[in-house]
Amino acid sequence: MFVSTGIELINTCEKENIPIWEYTIREEVERSELGRENIIEKVRKNLHVMLSSSSLAQEKEIKSVSGLIGGDAYRLRKYADNGTTLTGDFMVRAMARAISSSEVNAAMGRIVASPTAGSCGIIPAVIISAAERLGKSEETMIKGLFTASGIGIIIAKNATMAGAEGGCQAECGSAAAMGSAAVVEMMGGTPEQALDAAAIVFKNIMGLVCDPVAGLVEVPCAKRNIAGAVSALTTADIVMAGVKSKIPFDEVVWAMYKVGRQLPPELRETAQGGIAITPTAQKLKEQIFSEKNTL
Ligand code: SF4
Repeated sequence: MFVSTGIELINTCEKENIPIWEYTIREEVERSELGRENIIEKVRKNLHVMLSSSSLAQEKEIKSVSGLIGGDAYRLRKYADNGTTLTGDFMVRAMARAISSSEVNAAMGRIVASPTAGSCGIIPAVIISAAERLGKSEETMIKGLFTASGIGIIIAKNATMAGAEGGCQAECGSAAAMGSAAVVEMMGGTPEQALDAAAIVFKNIMGLVCDPVAGLVEVPCAKRNIAGAVSALTTADIVMAGVKSKIPFDEVVWAMYKVGRQLPPELRETAQGGIAITPTAQKLKEQIFSEKNTL
């Protein structure tokens, strides 16, 4: 059975001298009885969906069904093409990838909920961008997805990944933590460093509320995918530079869950607080649900 805590994960990987991705594959083989090759092929299929969702809205403007979001991935890609960015080509293209998947999701396109639909842009953006930057193969991206899964299993066992239960810190926060850990292992970091990255990401996003405008997973969700991807990538560099998390991953996950449960219901996906109740958000909601837009 998959270990229950981060420290157990580190100890097991160290004892067996394997990375998190290898441990996760072995556990999945044991749990599912599908066979190693079949499991890897399933994840490869997911990766291909991610490659598609993270590029589709960069190539052409895609509008969400409500009309609330769309075209931003395309704008970011054009901006990167112009070569005059502040944070650099790598980062802007990662941002474009992150919001592309979110826009595809809001347009009812095909995405991989990783771990949720609302946060579906973060893990593809960081794993694909890191692989491109580091010159890594498809196999390395698949390994990254297994690392992310391993971290996700521990989060799910000890906390939540649902915005309705723990706020956006639990949803986009988990995706960013999983993605950052994955990039660390893709860069040759240890399981301990991967968990340090996940812990730092959570600490930096702690308390983020879930407040979708009109109850739709669009505003502020899509741009939070950009923020999550940037956080994941920058944190991977922080950790690979030798910086550690003062608070261990398990304690950070415990704190994140506790903070999530302390959030009032208004700030947990009910669209009754935060950004969702600003005057502009209320107007947008009226427009979306006005009579002319209903059947
Ligand atoms: S704000 Fe809420 S619905 Fe939107 S991505 Fe975050 S957790 Fe999901």
